Amino acid sequence: MWMERGAGGSLPRLSLLYLGLLVIPAATLIVLGLRLLEQDKAISAQRAVERREAAADRAARALELLLADLDRQLLSGSTPEGSVRLAVTGSGMEARPAHLAPWLPEPPRLPEADTRAFQEAETLEFRNAGEKALPIYERLSRSASAGVRAGALLRLARVHRRAGRVDAALEAYRQLSRTDTIAFERMPADLLARRALCDLLQESGGGAELSREANSLHDDLLAGRWRLDRVSWTLAAEQAGRWTGRPVEPGEENRLISEAAEWLWQEWKRQGLAGPANRGSRAFARGDTGVTLLWHASGDRVSAVVILPGLFHRWANNAAAAVNDVGGRLVLGTDADLFLFGQPPGTGPGIVKRNPTDTGLPWVLWVSPQPGGRNVVESGIRPELLMLGLSSIVLFLTAGIFLLWWTVRRELAVARLQADFVSAVSHEFRTPLTAMRHVTELLDEDDQIPRERRKAFYAALGRNTDRLQRLVESLLDFSRMERGKRPYDLKKLDARELTNRVVEEFRGEAEPRGFAIEVESASDSLPIMADDDALGHALWNLLDNAVKYSGDSRIVRDIVKRRLESIVISVRDEGFGIPAQERKEIFRKFVRGEQARRLGIQGTGIGLAMASHIVAAHRGKIELEGAEGRGSVFSIVLPQGA
Ligand code: ADP
Repeated sequence: MWMERGAGGSLPRLSLLYLGLLVIPAATLIVLGLRLLEQDKAISAQRAVERREAAADRAARALELLLADLDRQLLSGSTPEGSVRLAVTGSGMEARPAHLAPWLPEPPRLPEADTRAFQEAETLEFRNAGEKALPIYERLSRSASAGVRAGALLRLARVHRRAGRVDAALEAYRQLSRTDTIAFERMPADLLARRALCDLLQESGGGAELSREANSLHDDLLAGRWRLDRVSWTLAAEQAGRWTGRPVEPGEENRLISEAAEWLWQEWKRQGLAGPANRGSRAFARGDTGVTLLWHASGDRVSAVVILPGLFHRWANNAAAAVNDVGGRLVLGTDADLFLFGQPPGTGPGIVKRNPTDTGLPWVLWVSPQPGGRNVVESGIRPELLMLGLSSIVLFLTAGIFLLWWTVRRELAVARLQADFVSAVSHEFRTPLTAMRHVTELLDEDDQIPRERRKAFYAALGRNTDRLQRLVESLLDFSRMERGKRPYDLKKLDARELTNRVVEEFRGEAEPRGFAIEVESASDSLPIMADDDALGHALWNLLDNAVKYSGDSRIVRDIVKRRLESIVISVRDEGFGIPAQERKEIFRKFVRGEQARRLGIQGTGIGLAMASHIVAAHRGKIELEGAEGRGSVFSIVLPQGA
């Protein structure tokens, strides 16, 4: 029976069971999965750090080997390409190639100009008898000794300059500027002469020659033409800068070479550079460039080499290969956080640092994670797979909850329909029963009722009994149909005859209520294969509905006709019609229209469901036309019988 599906109290329990069986384990799984993922990440990060540690050690070893090789070259006395060699002896310091260091702490000395040859002439000169000293200086300026010649030219220029003979003084300086083997108190004679030349040219009005001389002095100072100490170089550079209007700035790299040399000299003077195995190294950096000093001290000699950025970068790139392979980034710098290779490593976890004390290298070495670099996953669980698993659980869970919600909604709707149905059936029964009881009471109370009235009472009793019987049979029939137990006895019939019979019978019901049922039928026979009783029942239901839902209209039309290969039996009313959104639903069992319920029109909601069942068993269908407020047409469409 259709009553067997009860919503009952099992729904909340079902939901709880569902929650217990699915949601809780799924949530636990998700939490565990996320934990696992976190743990996996931590292990992954730990492994990455371990890989970077190993890479840092490999890079340090590679640099150590390169440094050892350079060390061997240094000991063998050669100057490796890309480096500057520094030699320190008791008397001073030398660089090779010399021009790369703008100044040195104790540069090699040139022979000093002779002074003894000028004692007599200088005495004259200082007694304001410069003119008398002049011939002596001129003679000495042609001396075979370079030292005497240089001294004479300097003094000659001095006398001419004092006497205001600018051209002669300039000429003497020019001649002196061609002497590059002699020094005056450690100042190379040519540098002294060129500075004096510029000075005099400026004094006497400058001009093109001053600019030419000053620019050439500027360039030569930068090109490292002279072996000077820092003070002499700075003095000459300041002068040249004033004359040219451009500061004389050595390149960072050159400045660093000179600074490394100065440091080496001072250390050696201070403590003799005694280190482990008398060797050592140190990095110097400024801005984004740096040099590395490597030295060997033995007895009173120190030999050292300054590794220039070019060579250093080649080494660093070589060592960086081992680091790049593990998705890391190599950085080399000094203790003072100055960087010789790579951008600053930054701070944060996962950065591996090796100090010079750990590695024996002159640099601090960092390996930091490469931003956006290759992330090698080595753990057993692939995060993507785990995420996929978790997403599937969430998906299943969502689908399950949706299914549950849908089922509950449906069950509630069915429960409501069933409740409506029970109340509707009770109403259907009550009306004829009440009428019958009333008539029976009347008959019982009065024995003198005239024969005519008595007859009418009996007829009313008969009608109501018929109605009850039809109702009970309808319900039983529907139950049988639902279970597929309703047998159909299909026979060849004429649709016109069937329609006429049913309409005739129905008129007995409808006409007393003021309804006119009109029939239009085709003139020739309309053969169908049908179960007379069942199809009559379906048509009755349509006629019954047409009357029930007619509103103020009192006309119902029944049309039987042929349409192509089909036979169509239509019931047309001019009642209140059916809203579009209800058209499909009303064919489902227990479903009643909104208006039917609102207006309190009696019904059980199974009439159309039954009609559909019956017509479907005849391999036909029911069509519905019309619009809300303008009546409806229900048509039973059947295949034409053979
Ligand atoms: P019942 O008539 O007992 O309610 P039915 O299954 O016969 O059940 O009909 C279902 C619903 O379809 C009715 O409640 C009504 O809203 C609507 N309906 C059926 N026939 C008509 C019609 N001729 N005109 C307007 N509404 C109709």
